[in-house]
Amino acid sequence: MAIAAEPQMEHKASSGGAAAEIKRWTLNDFDIGKPLGRGKFGHVYLAREKRQSNHIVALKVLFKSQLKQSQVEHQLRREVEIQSHLRHPNILRLYGYFYDQKRVYLILEYAAKGELYKELQKCKYFSERRAATYVASLARALIYCHGKHVIHRDIKPENLLVGAEGELKIADFGWSVHTFNRRRTMCGTLDYLPPEMVESVEHDASVDIWSLGVLCYEFLYGVPPFEAKEHSDTYKRILQVNLKFPSKPVVSSSAKDLISQMLVKETSQRLPLHKLLEHPWIVQNAEPSGVYRG
Ligand code: AMP
Repeated sequence: MAIAAEPQMEHKASSGGAAAEIKRWTLNDFDIGKPLGRGKFGHVYLAREKRQSNHIVALKVLFKSQLKQSQVEHQLRREVEIQSHLRHPNILRLYGYFYDQKRVYLILEYAAKGELYKELQKCKYFSERRAATYVASLARALIYCHGKHVIHRDIKPENLLVGAEGELKIADFGWSVHTFNRRRTMCGTLDYLPPEMVESVEHDASVDIWSLGVLCYEFLYGVPPFEAKEHSDTYKRILQVNLKFPSKPVVSSSAKDLISQMLVKETSQRLPLHKLLEHPWIVQNAEPSGVYRG
């Protein structure tokens, strides 16, 4: 299904005066289609915006009671605030939101090929061409975010969706921050946390370089690099940067070199994302179109 051009979804109506009034969305503006999935706080449905453009979207329906219970209202507000301002082919658009008494609705870009996580589970691990294409597109998206002082802080397969053409979309900005300062907060899933976040000291945009290194490893090996049975062992392995490359599946030394340059404890020594795009493994393997078609 084609995704219509963006401006049609902006949904602003002129009040006739100088200041344009922003027209509120309501559920009546949408035809609701099949369920696309279920998250922790509600459901996601395919939907068609029927007022203006017949634009196909994903409508995420979150229950206020559950958001309140889990004390994530603040996090959701931040997610909406940040994601709605980002415009990049590898970042899922958030067109708008509305709410009623019980629910909050997020109007999201529809990612026709669904979750990357499921694809990775199905394949066990990706080819170097596929992994490099994904890593390069994520690096471009993160360069864009960092340029806007947004750090994502939770890059992992579960937060990535795939568009109709096979392009990756960063989908979850629940842990992201808009920052001009260094941050100290503890967040994210353990496996993807860099040492400075495990230790809860100050961290900056280089946390996303670390997580992208972890993701690149998981793409190529099918498991994250510091995985251990006990949480405490994962912590230790992250802090020691106890990085091991198994002999199977066979992965090129060039890919291992790139991962080793990203998974570096000293934050200032991590390979900058623009340099990553020039790394021989990326140059030789990533599809120039940024799209992996199989
Ligand atoms: P979430 O609540 O974000 O975890 O979403 C629950 C599930 O709905 C996801 O795992 C996806 O399978 C699906 N989903 C969420 N957002 C979209 C989207 N924008 N396009 C397609 N499927 C989605």
